[in-house]
Amino acid sequence: MHDLIETLIRPEIRELAAYHVADASGLVKLDAMENPYVWSEAITAEWLEGLRDVTLNRYPDPHGTCVQAALREAMEIPSEMGLLLGNGSDELIQMLALALARPDRTVLALEPGFVMYRMITGFIGMRYCGVPLDADDFSIDLPAVLEAIEQEQPVLIFLAYPNNPTGNRFDADDMVRIIEAAPGLVVVDEAYAPFTDRSFLGLLGDWPNLLVMRTLSKMGLAGLRLGYLVGPHAWLQQIDKVRLPYNINVLTQASVAFALRHRALLDEQALAIRAERQRLLAHLTDHFPVHAYPSEANFILFRVAPGQADAVFAGLKARGILIKNLHHAHPLLADCLRVTVGLPEENRAFLQALGACL
Ligand SMILES: *Cc1c(COP(=O)(O)O)cnc(C)c1O
Repeated sequence: MHDLIETLIRPEIRELAAYHVADASGLVKLDAMENPYVWSEAITAEWLEGLRDVTLNRYPDPHGTCVQAALREAMEIPSEMGLLLGNGSDELIQMLALALARPDRTVLALEPGFVMYRMITGFIGMRYCGVPLDADDFSIDLPAVLEAIEQEQPVLIFLAYPNNPTGNRFDADDMVRIIEAAPGLVVVDEAYAPFTDRSFLGLLGDWPNLLVMRTLSKMGLAGLRLGYLVGPHAWLQQIDKVRLPYNINVLTQASVAFALRHRALLDEQALAIRAERQRLLAHLTDHFPVHAYPSEANFILFRVAPGQADAVFAGLKARGILIKNLHHAHPLLADCLRVTVGLPEENRAFLQALGACL
């Protein structure tokens, strides 16, 4: 069997480590940018009542018509733009790559960035080009990006706005320069849109190669897996062809439509998370010997003293707090850890544990 595996499984797949998700049982979970708030009893009861009408014996609506309508209304999607749903935005990244894939073609992204851009590009067998961000503040190194575009002629560029795992929001003029220089598609990934005030959604149509991707995961519905891609119909009609039929299941369709009727609640939670983020950032900056980076997302990246990241991460875990250790993730992230903004009491527990670890 092992010989067959060696010959059949592509070498680049055999060399990969499977995407690792840390076991959080029994820990305060501040590692995955989840919204920490749960629904009240009353809302939960109303949701469950609505699920009575869902039939599990039938395939879902293939286009998620109800979800599309609810999203269009709740998210102020320009009416002249198309909308494509994914099983999480991860699936949309995969669809985009599949639609453009050829072995000699390049996907470009900025690093450190969201790892799925590189991973999916590899799964699909395209070339990947990661351009480093500025080492001091993780801003776009525009000359480096423009040179990489010139050299690699990427068919697809991902720009996360705000960026994960650094938390900053790139300069919009730099982004525009990239969109204008790109020979292919540029996807602005707005996974953290609920936690910032700027968006490219309103600029759709200004350039023929711009698409905007979003997800409901970070705004409180990570368990449902729903991402959406917005842009000119002509593009989305093509990308839709590689979508697997029925990719959004009936429970997700019903639950998203329900949750978006309670949009005000999700907005309130996002505001609370933003306020808590500022408190957390101020506390990290004022009281600890760490460098905390400003964030427009629902997490904070911070750098500890050289060589200490693994010990601090382990110390926090021993005290019941799970965050993300990025020390080994990218050279620019040496000594860096990332904490997701949790409930006020979770953040207090984190800060207290961190104080004991430093
Ligand atoms: C979390 C994240 C996603 C993935 O979101 P899903 O919809 O849960 O697949 C996409 N892009 C960025 C930048 C993210 O941080």
